Amino acid sequence: MDKQQEYVLRSVEERDIRFIRLWFTDVLGILKSVAIAPAELENAFAEGIGFDGSAVEGLTRVYEADMLAIPDPTTYQVLPWRGDRQGAARMFCDIHLPDGEAALSDPRQVLKRTLDKASEQGFTFYTHPEIEFYLFKPLEEGKLPRPVDQAGYFDNVPRGTAHEFRRTAITTLEEMGISVEFSHHEAGPGQNEIDLRYADALTTADNIMTFRTAIKEVALEQGLYASFMPKPLANAPGSGMHTHLSLFEGDRNAFHDPAAEFGLSTVARQFMAGLLAHAPEITAVTNQHVNSYKRLWGGAEAPSYVCWGSNNRSALVRIPIHKPTKGQSARVEYRAIDSAANPYLAFSVILAAGLKGIKEGYELPDGAEDDVWELSAAERKAMGYEPLPSSLAEAVGVMEKSELVAETLGESVFDFFLRNKREEWTAYRSQVTPFELERYLGVL
Ligand code: GLU
Ligand code: MG
Ligand code: MG
Repeated sequence: MDKQQEYVLRSVEERDIRFIRLWFTDVLGILKSVAIAPAELENAFAEGIGFDGSAVEGLTRVYEADMLAIPDPTTYQVLPWRGDRQGAARMFCDIHLPDGEAALSDPRQVLKRTLDKASEQGFTFYTHPEIEFYLFKPLEEGKLPRPVDQAGYFDNVPRGTAHEFRRTAITTLEEMGISVEFSHHEAGPGQNEIDLRYADALTTADNIMTFRTAIKEVALEQGLYASFMPKPLANAPGSGMHTHLSLFEGDRNAFHDPAAEFGLSTVARQFMAGLLAHAPEITAVTNQHVNSYKRLWGGAEAPSYVCWGSNNRSALVRIPIHKPTKGQSARVEYRAIDSAANPYLAFSVILAAGLKGIKEGYELPDGAEDDVWELSAAERKAMGYEPLPSSLAEAVGVMEKSELVAETLGESVFDFFLRNKREEWTAYRSQVTPFELERYLGVL
């Protein structure tokens, strides 16, 4: 047993933890949990805990229904919302087959494999997500969601519901070792944003999964409902999860070059070129729902066209201003990804696109200085700003031809994902919506 595992056993005993929740994530990014008693812990570390993988969407084919969850002791945290005494703790798990092989369909291991490829090229991948979400009054069946307030961007609402919420939420996250950098009211009514401090991408992906659960728990505690749906209100901004990206070589930020334009190195420019070249084919993963495309094509600072800009909020890839002296913070922001993405898979395809740009020495096209939504279609075409896919069907169509995505996700995740998304599209397409009834019934 290693030191980390011993630490977990000791902490469980000292803090009188009664339930240890083993967490993992399915292909669609839904958190799964199985609780074990402290007496099972040693065995879980040594051999893993068996479970029926066929209960978990995408994790198995029928003939490999037996799976093992092996907890990662470095992810041990007590769950603050379960109370101080006789509480609960969690660890993220890697999923294995009974013969000990890593399960090819485990999103966490898809990311680990992609991070290994980065490290073969000499890089560690760091990410910092800005997570947007809505706070609603308790949902009522058949009714539109009702935001908790009518406040807007950066509004400070004395004794506001959202203010109180963010305070408790951030304390909860910090108790779980998740550092928060910024938080504020976002532009939509009831919409909030919390930005996590940058960390290596595996830690960030784990943190995002924890974040979603913690935010939902704190909201329920306060009689509210938190939603990460990409576009819950037709006439208000959607919830993006803009993610800031950088590659480090050891302690050095490989994106930084003080002598270059925007302080960005050739590596950074090639990485960005990779993101732009492969953006359409990775979009089904970064924006995985029918609803995601209502955000991407709904304006309100969500990107619709493939281009980059320095501090240009209409661009898909933005270079946030950083002080030239602060080389460590040189980074690029990818703005398509939404708050309902599976962070393990989304970070994998984003990283793979960037790495490919570096490996093959892609040229970065000219940056966009204009607000690209203000340009005419002809102007955009002349400048080479391709549109992102405009629907899930289109995104799936581009993804299924992508070698990059197939290779990165691995065959079983790739196939499951495509199958699932085609089903989602077919179900959506068969609906007759209120829009159609209103528009056609009275006149046709
Ligand atoms: N809510 C916007 C989006 O969907 C982003 C607003 C912002 O720039 O933070 O991407
Ligand atoms: Mg924001
Ligand atoms: Mg942003």
